[in-house]
Amino acid sequence: MGELPYLQTNPKFIFFTDFDGTITLQDSNDFLTDNIGYGKEKRVASNHAVLEERETFRESFQGMMDSVTKPYDHCIQLLVDNIQLDPYFKEFLSWAIANNIPVVVLSSGMVPIIKALLKNLVGDDSDYIDIVANNVAARPGKKIEEEGGWDIAFHDESGFGHDKSLAIRPYSNLPAEKRPTMFYAGDGVSDLSAAKETHLLFAKKGKDLVTYCVKEDIPFTLFEDWESILAKTKEIVAGQTRVEEAAREGYEAYKRGEAGVKVQNGSLRH
Ligand SMILES: [Mg+2]
Repeated sequence: MGELPYLQTNPKFIFFTDFDGTITLQDSNDFLTDNIGYGKEKRVASNHAVLEERETFRESFQGMMDSVTKPYDHCIQLLVDNIQLDPYFKEFLSWAIANNIPVVVLSSGMVPIIKALLKNLVGDDSDYIDIVANNVAARPGKKIEEEGGWDIAFHDESGFGHDKSLAIRPYSNLPAEKRPTMFYAGDGVSDLSAAKETHLLFAKKGKDLVTYCVKEDIPFTLFEDWESILAKTKEIVAGQTRVEEAAREGYEAYKRGEAGVKVQNGSLRH
């Protein structure tokens, strides 16, 4: 059981999810970079470089965080004061708790920031959520609560910094009769490593993850907020919709022009 911690309560479903821009309305690392780092223009250019595979996510994120030199506690407070929760996430979480569905955050951000934001935004129910993410470390001879004192401690050696497929694969490799149905929700370039790993991928309307799924032919369903995720997940848990059907809906919506993105000649345009 040690290697499969999310099966301890014998759930039939597991919900893996991105954090920044998915559970929250804003991406906390983008917020730091845009406001107290090298700025939005450079950050957006770096996001595109990742989508077009000219840069790894790890390199991009390292550059963003290197440009943020304020003490770590200052950064956390700035985020707690500014980052908002998706208005329906709390309702989703209560429902997941009542229905024995583990909720696991797989994030390319850093654990202390995610914990602080969840505690502030969700309250005590946030203890139910498992968090797998990068961490923070002091730079040599410094403390994290000093100017220029902290750095990212990456989760693994991958070009993603945190390869989100690593947490999901032990479950997707289980034989069919033991394997729970798995969901993933995400919005951006940090989710590329998880996009192919679950039964049903929720991709946020109009965001980079939709573009990527269309381009790579990965099945997905669109969401605008956790109200739509909750409604679809309830249908599946109740057996009213099969995941295979739901997984085709995103591409159908894209073809009807309802996904909020355009993919032209293989290049990526919003
Ligand atoms: Mg995100």
